[in-house]
Amino acid sequence: MLLGGQWTVSASELSDPVPNPATGEVVARVPLSTKDELDQAVRAASKAFKEWSKVAVPKRARILFKYQQLLVDRWDELAKLITLENGKSYAEAYGEVQRGIECVEFAAGVPTLMMGNHLPDIATNIESAMYHYPIGVVGCITPFNFPMMVPCWMFPLAVACGNTVVLKPSERTPLLANRLAELFGEAGLPDGVLNIVHGAHDVVNGLLEHPAVAAISFVGSQPVAEYVYRTAAAHGKRVQALGGAKNHSIVMPDADMELAVKEIIGAAFGSAGERCMACAVVVAVGSIADELVEKLAEAARNLTVGDGRDKGTFLGPVIREAHKKRTVQYIEEGVREGATLVLDGRAHAAGGQSGYFLGPTIFDHARKGMTIWNDEIFAPVLQVVRAVTLEEAIELANASDFANGGCIYTYDARSIRQFRETMDAGMLGVNVGVPAPMAFFPFSGYKKSFYGDLHANGKDGVAFYTRKKMVVARY
Ligand code: NAD
Repeated sequence: MLLGGQWTVSASELSDPVPNPATGEVVARVPLSTKDELDQAVRAASKAFKEWSKVAVPKRARILFKYQQLLVDRWDELAKLITLENGKSYAEAYGEVQRGIECVEFAAGVPTLMMGNHLPDIATNIESAMYHYPIGVVGCITPFNFPMMVPCWMFPLAVACGNTVVLKPSERTPLLANRLAELFGEAGLPDGVLNIVHGAHDVVNGLLEHPAVAAISFVGSQPVAEYVYRTAAAHGKRVQALGGAKNHSIVMPDADMELAVKEIIGAAFGSAGERCMACAVVVAVGSIADELVEKLAEAARNLTVGDGRDKGTFLGPVIREAHKKRTVQYIEEGVREGATLVLDGRAHAAGGQSGYFLGPTIFDHARKGMTIWNDEIFAPVLQVVRAVTLEEAIELANASDFANGGCIYTYDARSIRQFRETMDAGMLGVNVGVPAPMAFFPFSGYKKSFYGDLHANGKDGVAFYTRKKMVVARY
């Protein structure tokens, strides 16, 4: 743990192994820290807030510029660490580091981002101004699937805005967070501004209930996001809680088939399907369905499954053996429910490797209401649903409980407009497989994909990490 600038060994007797998902080899143990230790971290953050919130904004920005440079210098090391603890391919990990660095770059613009507004004459000789101030101690709770990018959605901007942070990284990928914090310290971040407490639900509950925590940023699965939102709000905190997803990609009859197949394969099977912006369902509209399924299956069959550290690997392992087993159960359920199993990734599961590998899996003739359509599987399992019209395809996508993203493949302007106007999801792609916004735009899921008001990143992120003060003045 990092408490008030000191690297501290947890006194907890409980710990979890952290295996390399590609080999099963235990590379670390993560402490399941206690509520008392969490309390120490919050106290350290509260103490540091008094000074940090008063540091001039350009000075805070300068530390972020230095941090950005250190992250760029250690790009390869960080990517390797992501692959080691998460399993995703080195190329994917390298891309993730870029996404993290972009967040730091956005946060370094904080002098402009924190500017207020001013109206010199709301009445004769009376002026009014709005100022932005930090809110205090922010609790950040993150998932396993992006060990760098998701924490970087949170702590750089929170800190840039003058807050202090207690970060609780995923207990399944705890290593990178420590390295990120070490480098921030090297960049000149004062002690206590960023604290790390490892662990699981005890630490999370400690953050949600702690009276000295002003706000909670959470990213993770839907049930936990809902729980975090309700509990933190009940304790009077500002909350943003990003949950799970089930993203639909609609392929229109006029689509560029080659492009659509390439983008869908990347979006469905990249990072082993463990992405909140993954393509989980393809909706094939009209006559193209047979050809599309055939081409998707052919492309997926040719993907290289293996250790993410090996050159040429496209599809690494899933995060844990239990997740692999759960995915196999979903595949069995899909078969039971009557979907057509076109490509069966379970063969890789039986391949004798010690890691948690699954090959790409594709179902055709999936339908609304099936478990495999309904649930977020979060693994390399893609379903194809067939629709006759665009209206029907959009209606299907909108019937999902989730509403993170959605894509359309077409060059027809009217279809694109109809998609944009009627898709009930917050992040849309047009001929793009993973329409994840860059750090200067908000990451804006709806429905069960997001609980709260202000999204992560962009101006929403700045508004979330600041509070406004209005002054009406007569001189
Ligand atoms: P998870 O919900 O299991 O864990 C997320 C965090 O919550 C972890 O830090 C974990 O320790 C904590 N946690 C887990 N169970 C808890 C409980 N019962 N009480 C309190 N805290 C608990 O999620 P995960 O499996 O690590 O991550 C994958 C999920 O995250 C997927 O559902 C994915 O869609 C989602 N995700 C969403 C976004 C988004 O932007 N919407 C981005 C990335 C990941």
